[in-house]
Amino acid sequence: MDKSLDLEGKIKAAHDHLRSCVLCPRNCGVDRLNGETGYCKTGKYAVIASYGPHFGEEQPLVGKNGSGTIFFGGCNLSCRFCQNYDISHEVRNGREVDQSTLATVMLELQGQGCHNINFVTPTHVVPQILGAYRHARDRGLDVPLVYNCGGYEKTETLKLLDGVISIYMPDFKFWDETSSTSYSDAPNYPAHARDALREMHRQVGDLRLNSRGIAEQGLLVRHLIMPNGIKESDKIIEFIATEISRQTYLNLMDQYRPCGTINDFPELNRSLTKEEYQAALQSAHTHNMQRLDSNDFRLLLKRLINLDD
Ligand code: SF4
Repeated sequence: MDKSLDLEGKIKAAHDHLRSCVLCPRNCGVDRLNGETGYCKTGKYAVIASYGPHFGEEQPLVGKNGSGTIFFGGCNLSCRFCQNYDISHEVRNGREVDQSTLATVMLELQGQGCHNINFVTPTHVVPQILGAYRHARDRGLDVPLVYNCGGYEKTETLKLLDGVISIYMPDFKFWDETSSTSYSDAPNYPAHARDALREMHRQVGDLRLNSRGIAEQGLLVRHLIMPNGIKESDKIIEFIATEISRQTYLNLMDQYRPCGTINDFPELNRSLTKEEYQAALQSAHTHNMQRLDSNDFRLLLKRLINLDD
């Protein structure tokens, strides 16, 4: 099936969900078309907090000209350690945009040479993205779309993006429900994240690069290693290795810093240690993961060389 032929149906189905919103696992049931808002605090229109070429993402997305990031206000997670609290939880300083305006932003980023359009925190605005994509495509958009999410997704909603999103970049944050409940107010996060990764990989497969090393299609997974969290990291890496693909592009992130409202959790009130990061790298090596982000790969090599000394 030519997936692009079905775009109108996908837009309609997604839009209909806004009447009694069950787009994500929160299942708020609110009428977002008539002024109600749910957990994500977002109504009929997407809110853009900021946008522009971004050079801090993974190298296959950044290339020479940057990744065209669009940061949305609102979020369906409440991570206590969130670094964007004012954007994600309070939806401050954003601008509501209709689909045509969102399309214009996408085209502006393409016009600046960005290698892709990178939707950051997109889960609660899937209908708006689909509608904007139709406008942008008709006006000449042809760079890949990146779905850069927290991993708290519904498979049914992801299916509406099949054939539209080229690159999925989910976080996989927690393996244990106790952690996801305490730190992100999402008891059923782990199961939804696992199902999301399966569906994303089914749609786009392992990450493929063009001859210039720029990502064209596929799955990248990010995992933020948490203080005292290596057991969960190991489970997550094992899951990716055995149930998704050992060729999954995996970024093990070591930049955890206490912020947001994390003071209530003493176990998370410090940065990651070097030993914890090295333990996560060792886990990736043990599970025979083949494609670590270049920074992780360099450090793993260094560690293995030192072990051999
Ligand atoms: S997208 Fe927002 S309103 Fe809809 S179910 Fe999720 S959190 Fe609730």
